[in-house]
Amino acid sequence: MKPGSRPDDSFADTVGEIVAALDQDPVLVEEVMGNGHTEEIRQVLSEKAAASPIPVHVVLTAPPREITSTEANEELLSVLHGRVGVDGVWLVATTGGYGLEVRTYTDLVPDDEYDETRLSSAVNAALEDVQEATDRACDHCSASTPALEAAVTMDVLAAGIPEDWDVHPLTEEQIDGYATSTWWDSTSSHAEYVEPTDMPTSGTYAMVATVAAVCVTVVAYRLAQAVGGRRHGRLRGKPRPSLPTRAELSAQVISARADAAAAYRTLEKALGRTRARSDDATAWERRDIATACLERAESRVGADDLLEVVGALVLARTGSYALHHAHGQYRCCYVDPRHGEARQEAQLGGGLQVPVCRACATAIAKDRPLEPLLSEGRFGSLHPYYERSSVWSRTGFGSLGGDWWREVPR
Ligand SMILES: [Zn+2]
Repeated sequence: MKPGSRPDDSFADTVGEIVAALDQDPVLVEEVMGNGHTEEIRQVLSEKAAASPIPVHVVLTAPPREITSTEANEELLSVLHGRVGVDGVWLVATTGGYGLEVRTYTDLVPDDEYDETRLSSAVNAALEDVQEATDRACDHCSASTPALEAAVTMDVLAAGIPEDWDVHPLTEEQIDGYATSTWWDSTSSHAEYVEPTDMPTSGTYAMVATVAAVCVTVVAYRLAQAVGGRRHGRLRGKPRPSLPTRAELSAQVISARADAAAAYRTLEKALGRTRARSDDATAWERRDIATACLERAESRVGADDLLEVVGALVLARTGSYALHHAHGQYRCCYVDPRHGEARQEAQLGGGLQVPVCRACATAIAKDRPLEPLLSEGRFGSLHPYYERSSVWSRTGFGSLGGDWWREVPR
């Protein structure tokens, strides 16, 4: 315990104690999640919560005794929301989970089904900007802490949910304000790693389990394509009738380049600052994936074609995910990878499940228009990318699983 922090006996280590604490203050930050700057973080988050236009609850702690599921963040969030009984936005992270669980129990923007997805897309863009600023200040520091993500989420809520996918919501002053050690991961360190003596070659480790699991999905997908008599399954939801103008499309390419470049640099830095133990086969396997993704993203970041640029963005995120997780892979929204991580599945026309963001899942369920990523045909016609033949439609930008990056040419 550091001087100035609360003594052990006030640590809320049961659900009841957390609920009691939230009744007094909607922000609870325990030292285990405080980056070594617990008091400062608690104060900043409390001020943001107090000023928030939407009620916000923030809980950053160790999982209380009653929470036993492997998805500690999700479980704790549901339990706390139920017990406290206040809607709004809930942000929960524990040492037993990964990242920050964000859930909204309110309409962020009335009549906008994509509001939650736009929030997460804007937060992603902001975090990539902060990582870039962090990289300028420290070559081995990671700006990916739940405390930072909670602060940035509240900044986006305060500024208003952006209407477009490609908005960078923070001011330069805000970005620079987060590029300090208060918001960095103080536990990441080179000390626990050893420099490798022998580099295993790429592909030494077969990802048998992953491949077996995803083969089923991909085979099923291709079968249904064959049975359906067309190459690409259509989603039940219809594209929205108003297509973007040429100028809007160019603006999308420019904005996607910035996002892809930031995600690329984040991955490049992460690869540079982490080391795998020479005897840790899993870590090497994950590094192989990250390196393969980085190599394939490089030539695409500045491309003219929107699909190629979005491909670079997803490759970079896939690589970062591989480095930061011991298993599993990054799955983006099948409808438009710029919507961010897929949290649900939705059914295609042929009875197939594809991963989608929450907003797209709702749109498909209610047969409402989707906002798919569009690709431009030879004569300027625009179609959802998954209705055209390309490596991106075949792989769904990785949302269909498998070692999809191998199919992407270098
Ligand atoms: Zn989506």
